[in-house]
Amino acid sequence: MHTALLPEAVNYHLNKNCNFRCKGCYATFDEDPSVRGVMLPREQMFSIVEAIAAAPLPLGKTARKLTFAGGEPTLCPWLPELIAHAKACGLVTMVVTNGSRCTPDYLRRVAPMLDWLTVSIDSLDAETNRAIGRHDSKGQPLGTKAYGQILAEAAMLRLRTKINTVVNRINQCEDMSGFIADSGIARWKVLQVMAVEGQNDAHMDLLSVTRPEFDAFVARHHRVAEAGIRVVPEPVTSIRGSYAMIDPQGRFFDSSAGRHTYSAPILNSGVALAFAQVSFDRVAFEQRGGSYDFTGQGTPELSADVPVFARTVNA
Ligand code: SF4
Repeated sequence: MHTALLPEAVNYHLNKNCNFRCKGCYATFDEDPSVRGVMLPREQMFSIVEAIAAAPLPLGKTARKLTFAGGEPTLCPWLPELIAHAKACGLVTMVVTNGSRCTPDYLRRVAPMLDWLTVSIDSLDAETNRAIGRHDSKGQPLGTKAYGQILAEAAMLRLRTKINTVVNRINQCEDMSGFIADSGIARWKVLQVMAVEGQNDAHMDLLSVTRPEFDAFVARHHRVAEAGIRVVPEPVTSIRGSYAMIDPQGRFFDSSAGRHTYSAPILNSGVALAFAQVSFDRVAFEQRGGSYDFTGQGTPELSADVPVFARTVNA
């Protein structure tokens, strides 16, 4: 048990359902029979958001970011209202999505209360995405055009944008430098695929990459940083234990032991007690760049990106 305060960045995995089937997904929650329902009732989700907003911030921090993830969070029918509630509670809001449901109408609906949109993009090649499992039930992945349109629309709506890429054995030789460098995003998080028992370990023979292979992927994309985008590489050693995460049952969880470990439900035990029941390494969190100016105040990387991107994609 640790005594760390809840950090300024928290991920809330609202639901376990997803319309994609990525083999490397670490958030299937299939191993825990208690996560039977797709998600908590709406009122309980709102209460969790309130509890996260009310939890004391670490010393010197002035804002907390709540990232809505899944599963695919846009499958939650009341996600727009939940984002609005988080915003009204004073949180910085982010959604991590596979992009499949990010129509212009949907983005316009959520934009007024959303600060950040993160799109998970592992590849721009259809066959690679199919091999990874990043496709819908008909085998249809998103491609360069679709991803570009989502990011362009988000830019037009003045959302700050980010891309998450998981490097695995299937996409490790790809070079997405041109697309990423021109995308207008503020941050690019590059993660080494990580085995989590009960989530994705059945596919690790197919997916795992070594640290040198991961580093080579990052190095191949040096143009992205040169374009002014903040590149955040996260090898497995940086990921474990450095995230504060909530599962679809409203419990904190961590994967520092190589599998998910869950706390008591936040709404039963309170944030402080529940968070103390999972592992969290504040130093690792800061070392991986988890503590950054996500409010966008006084951060050059967030002030210049949006118009550049809109020009690029619409050219
Ligand atoms: S899109 Fe995200 S939540 Fe869905 S299967 Fe892929 S990694 Fe998992």
